[in-house]
Amino acid sequence: MATMTPIGTYTHRAPVMFCAAGNPQDVKTWTGFGGHGNTIDDLAPWPQGSQLRVSVMSGTQVPGWVIDIIKSAAEQWASPLGETLKLQWVSSSDSSDIRISFRTDIPSFSYVGARASMHSQSQPTMNFNFGGWKDAKAVYSHAFVKRLASHLFGHAMGLPHAYLGESPFQWKADELEKLCGSHYANMIKSAKGSNRLRIMESIMRFDVPAALSTKGKDILQGGSGVDSEALNLVRSLYPPLLDACSLRSAAQHHPGFEAGWNGRAVGDRRFNVAQTSNIVTGIEKIDMGLNGNFRLNSSVINVDRGSGYTLRLGAWDNTHLIDATCNVISFHEADTRVQTGRVDWSQLSGGNERSGRQNFSRPFNKTPNVVAFISGLDTAKGRQIRMMCLLQILTETDSIVYGMGVSWLAHEPDDWTIRSGLFDPPLDPNQRERFDTREYSSPLRRDPKHMFYALSHIDVHPNKNIRLAMEVRGDYRKADAKFFTWEDESKFYRLKGVYVAALG
Ligand SMILES: [Zn+2]
Repeated sequence: MATMTPIGTYTHRAPVMFCAAGNPQDVKTWTGFGGHGNTIDDLAPWPQGSQLRVSVMSGTQVPGWVIDIIKSAAEQWASPLGETLKLQWVSSSDSSDIRISFRTDIPSFSYVGARASMHSQSQPTMNFNFGGWKDAKAVYSHAFVKRLASHLFGHAMGLPHAYLGESPFQWKADELEKLCGSHYANMIKSAKGSNRLRIMESIMRFDVPAALSTKGKDILQGGSGVDSEALNLVRSLYPPLLDACSLRSAAQHHPGFEAGWNGRAVGDRRFNVAQTSNIVTGIEKIDMGLNGNFRLNSSVINVDRGSGYTLRLGAWDNTHLIDATCNVISFHEADTRVQTGRVDWSQLSGGNERSGRQNFSRPFNKTPNVVAFISGLDTAKGRQIRMMCLLQILTETDSIVYGMGVSWLAHEPDDWTIRSGLFDPPLDPNQRERFDTREYSSPLRRDPKHMFYALSHIDVHPNKNIRLAMEVRGDYRKADAKFFTWEDESKFYRLKGVYVAALG
């Protein structure tokens, strides 16, 4: 390993910085965090959206200005990440994810990222060894505290050491083992560093004191503060939340739409939005006259990447459409949170169940949450209208469905920004309205910015006007749905629907 001219000035003996992947007694079956591998050289990011609690363990007194420098260095890493990773400083008596100690009997170290979660609350996950603190022999400068804190918090964010170069470093093995035991000594000797951290001024390089190296002198290397290469790598581990687009549109607001029998009950409406990927539409409200076919479709046409799309909504032959409302949600092309799709069945004859396999274009880490909902339908007049979409489409006996468009949206079950689910209100044919509340699998951090919803199950009598709608309101922990008709005669037998709540 080459010896570098140190950047910055220190008045201390160079400390070795141990950055441990784990304890010797840690479970061995575990396969690393975030799919990056499981060695001391691997990245170990925390889950997206984490709010890490940081505490200073009790027992050691350090001046407030030292803590201030440490906090400031930590924020240099965390504040560019926004909501995707936040640090919250809590008191020593609170449980925490990152626990800072100032012990002088162990070297300076930090666990790498989420590996810290494997250790008990009584153990530090990061140590600043200010050996000689308050001892006149050692003077620790602002620059030294800042540099050490920047390095250790780089680990805490999930970074390993910078790439060490082609030739292995020559440690004094016996001294190293004496200092930290054989487990850590072996780990340190075998480390190669991350090949994604290569610049000489990387904060993720570390010093080696003369006593531990065969060079016979202190090796001082790396930068004095958070560098752009390391910060960019951290940013890639915690990409920012890209805002989705959700909108609702009533057919009456679509240019070209004319309600009634005139055959022009369809209209196109343009939306100029940047979110033109994973666009799905779902029917929220139907107002349709008697004696016609039950035909309604929502679709997206003329998609211009990154600038907009046209929503087509309406009915066609022999349908008396008065109005309809559809919900749309769409995402940025770079937004990888969801996968979506649509299946259209047309001219079905006989049978009353259809299913089609939809493969995900890329695998999910866990079994995803999937919701399926109605984007369009086409049913013969005069028959009971009964259709539902699960992950397959079913129509019940006594209904003839010519066609149906079903869309689906899937996301990781533990995505911090999205919740989804199905409303299935209790059956009561004598009511004009039904209510259902669904608690999320776990609360969102705050109230959702977007609430997409759509019908997934329609069961109404054919001899009445079809007037039905759903409305959903949501907060950070639940979604409330109301299914209703606005006319007594249009009481429905059963309606179900789905929701997708998104923070951004
Ligand atoms: Zn280190």
